[in-house]
Amino acid sequence: MKFEIDTLGVIHSPYKEKFAIPRQPGLVKSARARLELLPPYDQPDVLRGIEQFSHLWLSFVFHQTMAQGWHPTVRPPRLGGNERVGVFATRSTFRPNPLGLSVVELLGVGRARGKLWLELGAVDLLDGTPIVDIKPYIPYADSLPDARGGFAPDAPQGLLSVHFTEQARAALSALQQVHPELETLIAEVLAQDPRPTYKRGKADEKLYGVRLFDLEVRFRITEPECEVLSIEAI
Ligand code: SAH
Repeated sequence: MKFEIDTLGVIHSPYKEKFAIPRQPGLVKSARARLELLPPYDQPDVLRGIEQFSHLWLSFVFHQTMAQGWHPTVRPPRLGGNERVGVFATRSTFRPNPLGLSVVELLGVGRARGKLWLELGAVDLLDGTPIVDIKPYIPYADSLPDARGGFAPDAPQGLLSVHFTEQARAALSALQQVHPELETLIAEVLAQDPRPTYKRGKADEKLYGVRLFDLEVRFRITEPECEVLSIEAI
């Protein structure tokens, strides 16, 4: 059977590119996003009672990678990127149906100028991600503390300690009004070590850049340190 599924809403998130997005929600708590509902779902009735829940499940489309198709096996970064496991034994973005599933914090509901949205926290979603379903997280059914976590039994450790140069600090203070949580966001994102796994444990001279909001953040990694060199408007 084939189905047609409608986009209910779209994500506005600080993550403007895939690089440096955490592998799962909850890892970067300060990553806030807005889920804007689209017509005909932009009616307050569809959200009645939702504020009683602290967390939501979001089903979404991996829109940025869907054109790349899928393979029966994938090499999860968590296994060092060499070992293959079945696509359905992973949370890989490259799936027969490019559907993602994330549990996120519900921070509030917003409504202004004819728009209706949800304020979310701890997301792992790219800006522009199409949302195809929203459900409340039900702790008694959805939280299974004794479950086995296969090749990803625990959250990845925050590996790096993140420092800012004078120049980066100056940029942070200049941006304080517009992005009050920027320092925390950058520190949490980079502590995850966004580099490909094979870069770990080796000398790395490379100058990296990542786009957060409308800003280019440049950094260098000398394990276990990460130095933020500059933060510039794009
Ligand atoms: N929690 C989801 C996503 C896991 S994969 C799930 O388990 O289904 C996480 C990766 O998805 C992130 O590192 C990010 O790079 C990628 N991602 C997020 N939004 C995306 C999108 N709209 N299109 C393609 N990839 C996306």
